[in-house]
Amino acid sequence: MSDYKIETKCIQSGWEPKKGEPRVVPVYQSTTFKYDTSDQMGRLFDLEDAGYFYTRLQNPTNDAVAAKICDLEGGVAAMLTSSGQAANFYAIMNIAEAGDHIICTTALYGGTFNLFAHTLRKMGVEATFVDPEVSEEVLNAAFRENTKAVFGETISNPSLVVLDFEKFSKAAHAHGVPLIVDNTFATPINCRPFEWGVDIVTHSTTKYMDGHAVCVGGAIVDSGNFDWDAHKDKFSCLTQPDETYHGVVYTERFGKGAYITKATVQLMRDLGSIQSPQNAFYLNIGLETLHLRVARHCENAKAVASWLRDNDKVAWVHCPMLEGDQYYERAQKYMPNGACGVLTFGLKGGREASIKMMDSLKLIAIVTHVADSRSCVLHPASHTHRQMNDQELLEAGVQPDLIRFSVGIENAEDIIADLDQALQQIG
Ligand SMILES: *Cc1c(COP(=O)(O)O)cnc(C)c1O
Repeated sequence: MSDYKIETKCIQSGWEPKKGEPRVVPVYQSTTFKYDTSDQMGRLFDLEDAGYFYTRLQNPTNDAVAAKICDLEGGVAAMLTSSGQAANFYAIMNIAEAGDHIICTTALYGGTFNLFAHTLRKMGVEATFVDPEVSEEVLNAAFRENTKAVFGETISNPSLVVLDFEKFSKAAHAHGVPLIVDNTFATPINCRPFEWGVDIVTHSTTKYMDGHAVCVGGAIVDSGNFDWDAHKDKFSCLTQPDETYHGVVYTERFGKGAYITKATVQLMRDLGSIQSPQNAFYLNIGLETLHLRVARHCENAKAVASWLRDNDKVAWVHCPMLEGDQYYERAQKYMPNGACGVLTFGLKGGREASIKMMDSLKLIAIVTHVADSRSCVLHPASHTHRQMNDQELLEAGVQPDLIRFSVGIENAEDIIADLDQALQQIG
């Protein structure tokens, strides 16, 4: 599929039915798959043959949808996970273990921050958080002997920092480790991180990819570009025999598929965060309109951001698509067709006015979600990020008065009219 344009890939990639087969990717609602001989099944367990045997590891519906996401990103292999959290957890733990270290930016989704700062630490993997605008010198000094990966978000949730891909990939590669990037907000429609030196991409498919707020899910995509064998000792998990599979060496046996194969046959086998095939089916329907929806989300967000900037009750607006925004130039470079439908703003009346305004909204709902078709707002300091103290909030780029506004694909005039009446309520 790789020669087609991205709009065509949204519709057609991942599932190529043969004569008489279903036109639409079917839900393989089966935990198990049948074989004729004991030997056939045995060869699957030794990874000598490829094939389905148990849905905890692989399922044809999931694989078709993962193949579509892989094609959209321009990768070589991909897998679905039960959530975005599972995707980021697996992406790191596939190459790090107790005693190891990772570097990540402070501009992260709250759940990812908790995972890296607290849960991974309990598991023995330490994270160093660096400012996304860190100098190359300070960034380079953060690497250690046991550093296994660098992690960032293309457009951070909710601080909307656009990642400096080139700075982070240069530093990661100079120290022989991959750059892993969560591309949830930009989606491959607006940005394909592999074109800028990123090695592995993750997604919360719960957001724009699903797009309708119906299923929690995640994905991991490998560019195939990182040379694990060039850093054999650092990545012995991929380059040395795995005794749980009679000594298979992933890079030798699976080449560019090594990273995703290991995550599937080891982490998915042992931890089991598989996406249900039914959810993958819904995700696939969402993906078919991703290109249409993302364009409209961006168009509406730009209109709403400009309107907010001209409103005298509004203290500040942050939207990387708005000229004059701190990240406007970088967004123009990495995602010239648009960034995302999420913007943030604060009111002159501060935290209290923000809450009053939100409570007065009629069309726009208060929900713990972003990036689906319906407009919604959230106050991160009271909701998603409430576990963070003020210092951590500011480091994550979240001001206490910040309202996260996920602009939907309704008519922009109706969205603006609702904002207008709610702003009038605060007097
Ligand atoms: C929502 C989100 C996640 C977590 O994904 P879930 O599907 O909710 O587990 C990770 N990263 C980003 C950028 C997100 O927005």
